[in-house]
Amino acid sequence: MRAMRYRQASWEEPLIFELGREGAGGPCLPEAAEPPEIPEVLRRRELNLPQLSEPEVVRHFTRLAEMSFGRDSGFYPLGSCTMKYNPPVCEEVANKEEILNLHPDQPCETVQGVLELMYLLERLLAEIGGVYRVSLVPAAGAHGEFVSMLMVRAYHESRGERRTQVIVPDSAHGTNPASAAMAGFEVVTVPSDVRGRVDLGALRAAVSERTAAMMLTNPNTLGLFEDRILEIVEVVHGVGGLMFYDGANLNGIMGRARPGDMGFDLVHFNLHKTFSAPHGGGGPGAGPVGVRKGLEEFLPVPTVEYDEGRRLYYLDYNRPKSIGRVRQSPGSLPVLMKALAYILLLGGEGLREASEAAVLNANYLARRLSELPGLELRYGLPCKHEFVLSAEPLRRETGLGARELAKGLMDFGFHPPTVYFPPIVPEALMVEPTESEPREELDRFVEALRALVGEARTHPDRLRSAPHCASVGRVDEVGASKNPVLSWRMLGRC
Ligand SMILES: *Cc1c(COP(=O)(O)O)cnc(C)c1O
Repeated sequence: MRAMRYRQASWEEPLIFELGREGAGGPCLPEAAEPPEIPEVLRRRELNLPQLSEPEVVRHFTRLAEMSFGRDSGFYPLGSCTMKYNPPVCEEVANKEEILNLHPDQPCETVQGVLELMYLLERLLAEIGGVYRVSLVPAAGAHGEFVSMLMVRAYHESRGERRTQVIVPDSAHGTNPASAAMAGFEVVTVPSDVRGRVDLGALRAAVSERTAAMMLTNPNTLGLFEDRILEIVEVVHGVGGLMFYDGANLNGIMGRARPGDMGFDLVHFNLHKTFSAPHGGGGPGAGPVGVRKGLEEFLPVPTVEYDEGRRLYYLDYNRPKSIGRVRQSPGSLPVLMKALAYILLLGGEGLREASEAAVLNANYLARRLSELPGLELRYGLPCKHEFVLSAEPLRRETGLGARELAKGLMDFGFHPPTVYFPPIVPEALMVEPTESEPREELDRFVEALRALVGEARTHPDRLRSAPHCASVGRVDEVGASKNPVLSWRMLGRC
């Protein structure tokens, strides 16, 4: 299986503001219906939009799309992000008029169909996670974590307890400690052991009557199943703390194991990872939160309920112990509908097959890549749906490591894996193939990396300056983060 270099389209595309000309435009198709009258006070003035004809706008964005890399352009093994295939049929469902044009405060009698679908999605997610109730409100994974931490606080306060600490393993995703801290908790970090799992001795030493909760990702960010999960749960429950399951890695166990059955009290789902809603470029996402029986009264409002007597679905805002409203809308409806369509399309058996294929792909790729000279697997196999390679041996030998390999992969038409994360692995390359890829594509990826580790030895200067075939070459990353240009005005060109 040969890996081929891939030259990306490269246009010298100006900003759309530079393309615009005063008074430019072209024929526009008339609106199908008379637009509604907008009251004088609501009219905006001087929007200062660029003036172009419709085809100019379409061409501008098509050229930009050709210069971009997306899930539909090629293999996208961005670890931790589960960039799986997004079936267009799910998009079709979500783009229905009845879903797109709703108002969040519309009377429930007028949206019975949509509420029934939300109710169904809650039941399905509860079944997949092994939990009692699920809130569909949170807008992303990090938001789901934050909402969960607010619920942890409400739970302890309802029992007259003030607990101040949240325990997080050192391999955790950065959003975990951030969410705990934003909810007002002190973060206590526990180290990983030599097998890449939670160090149980350190955990026992860390828990106390101050422990409010532990946040745990399983499979963890090294792609490893926490095989002493029941003991971990027992230690934290033993001191009265709650267990929060970061479910962003659910793709590794979906249909095979359930957080609720492992003893977790709260779990979040990333619909935009596991359930195939497109993501990247900042969203939109959805991070529903599930809870075991006994915690449901703390869920954010609104919940979706069914009134048997009136045979009516409705949004319930009247929940006295709820942590309250955490965003304006009752949920990212199109994202929820994409996930529902995906779950119903695959069915229980299909979801299980998806996670099995994701795990098989990851183990196949991990085994083959770890045989390349200069790369090593720190924690061995089997893994679940993803794995972390270290390019430290290559760095020691040639001075080139994870960064250069990632840039070089772009020349072969691959999105780079996640690099330098988790930070406990030096020169980390975190690879998640997902179930979407055929074996031939995985083989091409191996051959591309084989070529690149070879190039690190034979033509180090060439690799150091990669990418050479992408629409944008090596960028000044430090400059971009220290002096970001966030608007066209900052370019001083207007
Ligand atoms: C992606 C991810 C998150 C955060 O989810 P967002 O939707 O990006 O906010 C949290 N934990 C893990 C392990 C993740 O992979």
